[in-house]
Amino acid sequence: MAMQGAEHKSKIWEDKWVHTACGGCYGGCAIKVHVINGVAVAIEGVDTSLGARGGVCGKGAAGLMMLYDPNRLNYPLRRTNPQKGLGVDPQWKRITWDEALSEIADRRKRCWLTTRKRCGRTVPPQPSTVAGERPAGTL
Ligand code: SF4
Repeated sequence: MAMQGAEHKSKIWEDKWVHTACGGCYGGCAIKVHVINGVAVAIEGVDTSLGARGGVCGKGAAGLMMLYDPNRLNYPLRRTNPQKGLGVDPQWKRITWDEALSEIADRRKRCWLTTRKRCGRTVPPQPSTVAGERPAGTL
């Protein structure tokens, strides 16, 4: 039997918690996101997380507002005006994800090669893995 009107709208066809990492800052705290019918409705910390120990800071909790911000950019842009300053139009131009990723990879590679040459490094810099160092962000 087919559902009708309000009955169909109130039907919950998906209710799950998705474990992931917060992207609010460099900390990358473990979080879980409550998703109902494909819509993220809540963010909470993960109790077993070594860093935040179940907590999530205000910025992390506000992740839903960032996700559903109507002014959020959902595609990459390239600045086409080299002049910068107050009142200067950056002349953003929409580019594809492939263009953006390729450009970022090229620039990072050039940066890494320049740094390596200057510092005598043979491997790219790695994130700290010192035992006992706090792995979380600002919590
Ligand atoms: S400190 Fe806050 S913003 Fe940063 S990763 Fe953790 S929860 Fe997210």
